[in-house]
Amino acid sequence: MSDVIVVGAGVVGAACAYYAARAGLDVTVVDRGPVAGGTTGSGEGNVLVSDKEPGPELELALLSNRLWRSLADLGGFEFEPKGGLVVAETGEVQRQLAELAAKQDVEHTLVPGESLRDYEPHLAEGLAGGVYYPEDAQVQPMLAAARLLRHGAESFGHGTLRLRLGAAVTGFIRKGDHVAGVRTSQGDVLGDAVINAAGTWGGEVAALAGVDLPILPRRGFILVTEPLPEPLIRHKVYTAAYVTNVASDSAGLETSAVVEGTPAGTVLIGASRERVGFDRTTSVPVLARLAEQAVALFPALREVRAIRSYCGFRPYCPDHLPVIGADPRVPGLYHACGHEGAGIGLAPATGHLLAQVLTGSPTDLDLRPFRPDRFAEESS
Ligand SMILES: Cc1cc2nc3c(=O)[nH]c(=O)nc-3n(C[C@H](O)[C@H](O)[C@H](O)COP(=O)(O)OP(=O)(O)OC[C@H]3O[C@@H](n4cnc5c(N)ncnc54)[C@H](O)[C@@H]3O)c2cc1C
Repeated sequence: MSDVIVVGAGVVGAACAYYAARAGLDVTVVDRGPVAGGTTGSGEGNVLVSDKEPGPELELALLSNRLWRSLADLGGFEFEPKGGLVVAETGEVQRQLAELAAKQDVEHTLVPGESLRDYEPHLAEGLAGGVYYPEDAQVQPMLAAARLLRHGAESFGHGTLRLRLGAAVTGFIRKGDHVAGVRTSQGDVLGDAVINAAGTWGGEVAALAGVDLPILPRRGFILVTEPLPEPLIRHKVYTAAYVTNVASDSAGLETSAVVEGTPAGTVLIGASRERVGFDRTTSVPVLARLAEQAVALFPALREVRAIRSYCGFRPYCPDHLPVIGADPRVPGLYHACGHEGAGIGLAPATGHLLAQVLTGSPTDLDLRPFRPDRFAEESS
């Protein structure tokens, strides 16, 4: 019998399990697949504060950014505190970027067009300017999730954190109204509390407990280049349109250039967003558009071959905020899902805050904006 069952071994579930075990709780992580087999295995790994409007998500991102930096000391995964550069094609867009940066209260430097190449020597000519955010970073999400789970299993006492992989959760066990465990394809797992960290499938897991969470898949493609002999891109670089796309409610296709190098020498090129259900069909027109936008930003990429692409499904909530906290509709049920395109960045803060909730400690942030029952209020 565990204190906590975490459903989902993605980066969010791993962070929840890690912080709960660190707080002294006995944890079992259940996943129907392998570690990081969901969206965590198909993200990019940006840990961004630059793209967030002031408000609860930015506060969560700032806390998470600090936590990633200390988790990086565990070693075993790539964490690059490289900083992010947002670029503007026109003077008007540069003015809007400067306005956002002033509101965010996050460390930044306004970069005039003529100084952009001091940051990124291979950027295209003619850009109006940009904003540099030193706190933006990049993490390898799959290795990070695996490392958090392993460290949790090895470091906080024997048997404190266990993994049940290949076990699909099919229902909830109740004692009266209270959750007392989950039914899985490999038998029952008992626990005093259940954290739903099922990402894009968080709505399905919530439905098994009889509650509604409106989480939908928002598809994204990434293009990967061949490894480059010399680093071409120093920071995470993206165009201002990315900020608008992230915040958009449109179901239609949106793309903007997001480009970054990796320690392996490959360049990751994103980002597309569209709501087309769980359709995995490769879209050559989308990939072509991503390539074209990346080349417009870094003309040297024209000579570089793309070697593969992949796609994943961001867990999209209608108000673009994750669902974090106790579900008042089902005692013993907690949620940590719906982080859309920022779940890698926001994972540590999510796990840390839920561990505080589970141990009855005051939380470092107000969790009300993330409460699970907010959607019912909005629709009534
Ligand atoms: C193209 C793309 C680029 C992205 N780039 C970034 C980025 O740069 N930075 C960033 O922060 N975020 C990024 N994201 C978003 C990020 O990847 C997600 O927000 C994050 O991975 C969600 O993690 P998670 O642990 O909540 O979900 P997942 O990783 O999907 O984990 C959920 C787990 O739950 C399991 N599960 C589901 N149902 C059940 C069940 N019934 N029983 C048992 N197990 C179950 C699944 O098998 C899965 O392993 C990107 C996403 C995409 C698609």
